Amino acid sequence: MYSMDTSLNWRLAEGYKSPAQIAKVLTEAWVESQGYCPACLSSLKKLKDNTPVGDFVCAQCREEYELKSKKDYFSKKIVDGAWSEMNKKVSKGISPNFFLLNYELRDRSVHNFYVVPKHFLIPSLIEKRKPLAPTARRAGWVGCNILLTEIPQAGRIYYIKDGYAESRDKVLNNWNKTLFLRDQKAPEQKGWTLSVMNCVDKLAKDEFSLNDIYAFESALKEKFPNNRHIKDKIRQQLQILRDKGYLEFKDKGRYRVI
Ligand SMILES: [Zn+2]
Repeated sequence: MYSMDTSLNWRLAEGYKSPAQIAKVLTEAWVESQGYCPACLSSLKKLKDNTPVGDFVCAQCREEYELKSKKDYFSKKIVDGAWSEMNKKVSKGISPNFFLLNYELRDRSVHNFYVVPKHFLIPSLIEKRKPLAPTARRAGWVGCNILLTEIPQAGRIYYIKDGYAESRDKVLNNWNKTLFLRDQKAPEQKGWTLSVMNCVDKLAKDEFSLNDIYAFESALKEKFPNNRHIKDKIRQQLQILRDKGYLEFKDKGRYRVI
C-alpha cells in the first residue's frame, strides 16, 4: 500500500549555507517525491524557480500549487508575494492552490502537510501589507498576507497531520467535497458561504440547531454591514451547504455535519 515517507533527504542540503535555502531545497524535493495532486492523485512536476503560476503543476490535470514551508506551525497569516498581482488572481479565481508544510529539523521530517484549495480564497482574505520603506531595495513595493484564520477547516486538506499520513482516497474525497465553491463566482456570495462554514466550525459539534448558528448574528452583521436580513442569509447558506453535501438537515431546525 502506498504511504508517504515523512523524512527529508538531508544529503540534498550539501553545499547550501543559508537555513532558508536549505529548507527550500529539502521541502521542494520532498513535495516532488512524496506529494501528489489532490484533484486526481497524479504526480507533481516541479516548475522552474520564479514561475509566476506557482511551484508545482499536476502532470495530469494541470492544477497548480505554490508551496509555503515553515519550521513552526502556520498561525494566522501566510506571507505571499505582490498584493496587486495576488488580488487580481484571486478575484478572477486563477491563483494557485497552496501547499503548506511544517517541518522539524531535529528529526528531519515533515510534521504537517496540507493543501488550501484556491476556491477558498476571496479578495477579502488577501491582506495588503505596508509599502516597503524608501530605504529598502524594493522601495514602495507592496506585498500581501493570506488570512488563514478566515479559511474553514474544510479548506485545509491534510496529507500529513502531526506526522501521520492520511490515505490518498481521503485526500481525494476531501478535495472533491469542496469543489462546489468553484461554482460560486461572486466574492460576496462566497464570503457568506465561508463565513457560515466558519460558524459551523466554531460550534465544534456534529449536530447543531438553527439557534446555535443564529448566535453568530451580530458577528456576521459586523462583517456584512450592508445586509439587513442576516438570519435569512444564514438559512440560505445552510441550504446551499445541504445541497452541496456538506450538511444534512435532520428534523425541524437540526443540522448534522457530514
Ligand atoms: Zn491533478
